[in-house]
Parts: sequence; structure tokens; C-alpha cells
Amino acid sequence: MTIDYRLAREALVRSLRGEITDARVLGAIGAVPREHFLPEQLRRHAYEDRALPIARDQTISQPLMVAIMTQALSLTGDEKVLEVGTGSGYQAAILSKLAREVVSVERLPDLTRAAAHRLDELGCANVRVLQAGEELGLAEEAPFDAIIVTAGAPNVPRSLVDQLGQGGRLVVPVGDRKVQQLVRATKSLSGVSLEKLGECRFVPLIAARDGWHEHDSSKNGIRPVA
Ligand code: SAH
Repeated sequence: MTIDYRLAREALVRSLRGEITDARVLGAIGAVPREHFLPEQLRRHAYEDRALPIARDQTISQPLMVAIMTQALSLTGDEKVLEVGTGSGYQAAILSKLAREVVSVERLPDLTRAAAHRLDELGCANVRVLQAGEELGLAEEAPFDAIIVTAGAPNVPRSLVDQLGQGGRLVVPVGDRKVQQLVRATKSLSGVSLEKLGECRFVPLIAARDGWHEHDSSKNGIRPVA
């Protein structure tokens, strides 16, 4: 049976209305073919509202979560945005429709290459996918107007708050290795304000500072890196 991806995509967008009120975000979800970011055998599930496995034990996020996080960044089209955790590249493609410039960093080289290739095929010319370095984010290209982290951190990463410009927004899942709270940090002259946006589940953010160990042996999964 062949699937009409366009119809399925439209149905997904309809199902997100209500919870997602930003018309530009809904427009972006309606414009990006999620099937393009999935392994062949999973493409038929592209428009079910759920996370799906990609290579290397990582996941492509649930469309509703992509929409919630993107909406929380309040993009108007003029921003320079950083994504930490490119994964499949789907979230980066959504951001490319909503911001001026997107830089996305990924720590696993094969995922970096595959995502860069997919985004290129889709003609997302304002996105660059880069290999993540030792330090979280991309300090050499700061400041960013918005930063989105699509992996779970043990705390709000100080290093990423430092990479925000004045008025900048950071959206990041914060919690243990399995379950997190979505947190938005907004930087202003008077300091950094934090808001909780609800529960979420992401794969762990791996980093020596502000992240988790790659092979954490703790059974309860609540031991952050110092
Ligand atoms: N945004 C992705 C989903 C990301 S899954 C999508 O739309 O498909 C989380 C990704 O974060 C994984 O690919 C993982 O390798 C990556 N990651 C984990 N720690 C990282 C770090 N410190 N820097 C960059 N990427 C990281």
C-alpha cells in the first residue's frame, strides 16, 4: 500500500492545532517531509505523533515535542539559532523555515554526515550541520538569539546560557537520564529567568561539562557529571 504523505502530514498538522498556536510553527511542520529523515522501513510511521528510532540508538523526536520546543523559541524569522543534537536533522529543517540562520551540532560523526546530506537534498541552504567539539554548543559563533537542546541535560547548561545574546531563549530538557522537564531560560539585563514547560523524555546529552558520561554505569541513572 502506498501512503499519501502529503495527506498524512496535513492530518498531523490538524492534530497539533489547539496545543500549538503559532501559525508559523504549524506551517513549518506542514512544509517539512518527516519521512525524509527516517530509515526506509520506518517511513510509513512518519506522521504518527511519536518519537522513532534512528541510527546509533538515537531518536527523532515526537512531532508534538518538536512543535512545543520550536514554539517556545518564539522565532520571527530574523534569528541566528543553535541546535545541540542534530540527530536525524528533522528539527533543524523545521528551524530553517523559521529563522534566518541555523547551526546544528552533533557528536556522532556518522549522524552528522547523514543529517547534513539530508538537509542538503531538501535545499535547506540556511542550515549548517557541524561536528560537535569537546565543549557544549558552539562558543566561537555566539551569541545566538535562540538555542534548542534536543537531548536531556542534568542541569540548565551554564555554558549554553553564556552563548545566548541579550533577550535570547534557551530550551532544554533537564532531569535524569530518562525523564526530564522542558525548561526555557530567558536571558535579560536583569538576569536569567527559568520556566518549566512540561515533562519530556530525551536521550542523554553527553558532555564532560553540563552533560552525562557516555557509559554511565549507575543503575538509577541520576548521576550527573560534575
Ligand atoms: N533533534 C533530533 C533528535 C536528537 S536525538 C532530530 O530532530 O532528529 C539527540 C542527539 O543528540 C543524538 O543524535 C546525540 O548523538 C546528540 N548529542 C548528545 N550529546 C551531544 C552533545 N554534547 N553535542 C551534540 N550532540 C549531542
